[in-house]
Amino acid sequence: MEGTNSVDILAFGAHPDDVEIGVGGILAKHAAAGFSIAICNLTHAELSSNGTVEIRKMEAKQAARILGVRKLINLGFPDRGLRGDREEVLKIAQVIRQLRPKIVLSPYFEDRHPDHVMTSRLVKDAVFDAAIRKIRTPGDEAPHRVPQVYHYFINDIHPADVIVDISDFYEIKVNAILAYRSQFDRQSGEVSTPLNNPAYLAMIRGRDQLWGQQVGSMYGEALVSPRPIRQSLLLPAQFRALPPGKF
Ligand SMILES: [Zn+2]
Repeated sequence: MEGTNSVDILAFGAHPDDVEIGVGGILAKHAAAGFSIAICNLTHAELSSNGTVEIRKMEAKQAARILGVRKLINLGFPDRGLRGDREEVLKIAQVIRQLRPKIVLSPYFEDRHPDHVMTSRLVKDAVFDAAIRKIRTPGDEAPHRVPQVYHYFINDIHPADVIVDISDFYEIKVNAILAYRSQFDRQSGEVSTPLNNPAYLAMIRGRDQLWGQQVGSMYGEALVSPRPIRQSLLLPAQFRALPPGKF
């Protein structure tokens, strides 16, 4: 049964800002088209050099508002302390069962940050377990099978299976990233990090332009599907050529 809690797309991140960097444009575009979106972050990124957990929580809310995201969840797992154990998997499976998404977005499984890799693994296990009736989640939620998972990119890249044209939503994406002022906008007295170096946002923009260029758009966001993507027809019906003699 689909409750009022259910969403179309559920995006997981290890840290607040992962989702915005990887799929901010995709989320903004789908929210604008009327789809309901949720973001679930596993940690509060409490080990970040700048800002505090409280500031980061406010920034995450602001970024979600900018993207048009309906629901923002944080599981409060420890930053750099993800264990990858059953308890963590079942808490993520619980979120999947509560929100019953049609699409789950999860970090790509190769990335220089170990938390991104672990999040990818945890979400994979949780998607699997959420569908199994005899596996119990903490609130005894009904099972849910996620029809499609896609991986998105944070630090490292890989050839894409799908690139979504996000040209019309690029400035919204940038604004959502910039909502994390404590991370991306260096204030006096703050530590210099790769994120608050002006080259960082330029790098993200360049990466997204490169993906856009691969599909003839100004900006794109790339996804990888862990399984083949099902198509019922390769062409939409309105693209049918006229039968011979009907010109
Ligand atoms: Zn991260």
